[in-house]
Amino acid sequence: MKALVLKQYNYLQYEEVPDPVVGPEDVLIRVKACGICGSDVHGMDGSTGRRIPPIIMGHEASGVVAETGARVTSWKAGERVTFDSTISCGTCRFCQSGEINLCDNRRVLGVSCDAYRQHGAFAEYVAVPARILYRLPENLSFERAAMVEAVSIAVHAVGRARILLNDSALVVGVGTIGVLVVQALRLAGCGRIIAVDLDQERLDLACRLGADGGLRADAEDAAATVRSSCGGAGADLAFEVVGREEPLQLALAGLRKGGSLTLIGNLSRSVALPLQEVVTKELSLHGSCASAGEYPTCLDLLARGKVRVDELISAVVPLAEGASWFGRLRRGEPGLRKVILVL
Ligand SMILES: [Zn+2]
Ligand SMILES: [Zn+2]
Repeated sequence: MKALVLKQYNYLQYEEVPDPVVGPEDVLIRVKACGICGSDVHGMDGSTGRRIPPIIMGHEASGVVAETGARVTSWKAGERVTFDSTISCGTCRFCQSGEINLCDNRRVLGVSCDAYRQHGAFAEYVAVPARILYRLPENLSFERAAMVEAVSIAVHAVGRARILLNDSALVVGVGTIGVLVVQALRLAGCGRIIAVDLDQERLDLACRLGADGGLRADAEDAAATVRSSCGGAGADLAFEVVGREEPLQLALAGLRKGGSLTLIGNLSRSVALPLQEVVTKELSLHGSCASAGEYPTCLDLLARGKVRVDELISAVVPLAEGASWFGRLRRGEPGLRKVILVL
């Protein structure tokens, strides 16, 4: 089959590779669409230690069942599907309790690190365990379905916070996931939603897709402005969707006493935390990782148009042209958001 292979750090090549091996519990998927994730773009230079070449990246995909393993009975060739970006083992205590994102033997598709190499979906075919597959609603296109992983991350994060009707919320960092968090917060019954980012274009989009206001993170007294735009005392909830120290500090500073912060971004391995502020304001911090069973909900929201993703998709281009699009994303071309590679 043909695949887009990360041959060396920062070097991708579209080339012929062996077909995936289909295990007895696996389903072979003919890939139709696969989105380029920020973690692929950031990771391909070796900085994260999770894209060690050679690796076929890609974990935001959709396609058609091509073949089923010997023990697979619930799927048949021709079905339109998507699959979790995380391969969970199905047997550890976390999988048994439905917390599949915390699986002890978790592998992420398209990732190679010290512990494992798991080829992903920037290829004609990918083999995945049947238990991580989901059927696509009839009216949902492969391109939109490739956005479900990002939607599920946002929906999971919103589920980590305890939201009361009309709560005010702050979303710091409105890239793809951040904008989806805004939409999920709206659906979950939030009141005032304020988006914060360094990029005005992103803020404008966040406002078109559900935020009530957009604030520049580099504005003078950004934290005070955030608090005053959330009724003076600060926001009930905050979501950090960057993963660096400054946005984290801003999110904390924008919260009211007793508020809660949900952490999604994790670009930095560690950051300074204003400990006394967290303690004396009795703030709650929640980590949020990937998703744990939200796919069916998210597919339904997408199919019914309750979560809008078209505005987030900048380009739909052939997989064969993937290398040049990775280059454009790495150079940070203005206005370029999600790029979906199709076959
Ligand atoms: Zn991703
Ligand atoms: Zn497990």
